[in-house]
Amino acid sequence: MPTFSPDSPAAFILAAADFAARKHTAQRRRDTAKTPYINHPVAVAALLTRVGGMTDPITLAAALLHDTVEDTETTPEEIEEHFGPDVRTLVAEVTDDKSLTKEERKRQQIEHAPELSHRARLIKLADKSCNVGDMTPTEPKDWPLVRKREYFDWAEQVVTRIQGTHPALETHFRRTLQTQRAALADL
Ligand code: ZN
Repeated sequence: MPTFSPDSPAAFILAAADFAARKHTAQRRRDTAKTPYINHPVAVAALLTRVGGMTDPITLAAALLHDTVEDTETTPEEIEEHFGPDVRTLVAEVTDDKSLTKEERKRQQIEHAPELSHRARLIKLADKSCNVGDMTPTEPKDWPLVRKREYFDWAEQVVTRIQGTHPALETHFRRTLQTQRAALADL
């Protein structure tokens, strides 16, 4: 039996937040202020509730945990042990294979996006919105404009492949993308 059960949704979701916070504790975002990494998964989960209207504890826990296997020492087994097989599978769906080159991983995200489950698509949409939203003319500081524009184009391609998943989240993504592109265009 997993340590936590989605039958107690608040406890389940907060346990995922606590687990992710501990795993990401030494990591920072790329911004100048070196924002704690955990701000990102929390923002993704919060967007799913605020814009996506999501209350499903499996999706929200997986959103909080979505970068633990990819970016920390966390194993899929550990996720299953605490949060069960559904969260494990969902996190695995949104985890890139780090044995591949960065280019290949990006290509695969576009290619495999339509194969994602509905829940994984929701996390993907919120994740891309948050990442695009974090990318401003000044942040991350060490990224040249062209790299930011390429990132926007790539994120748009991934989202286009899963169009029709969730209108409100997609509209939020498009608006965020438009705002961030406009900010860069003025430079
Ligand atoms: Zn992410």
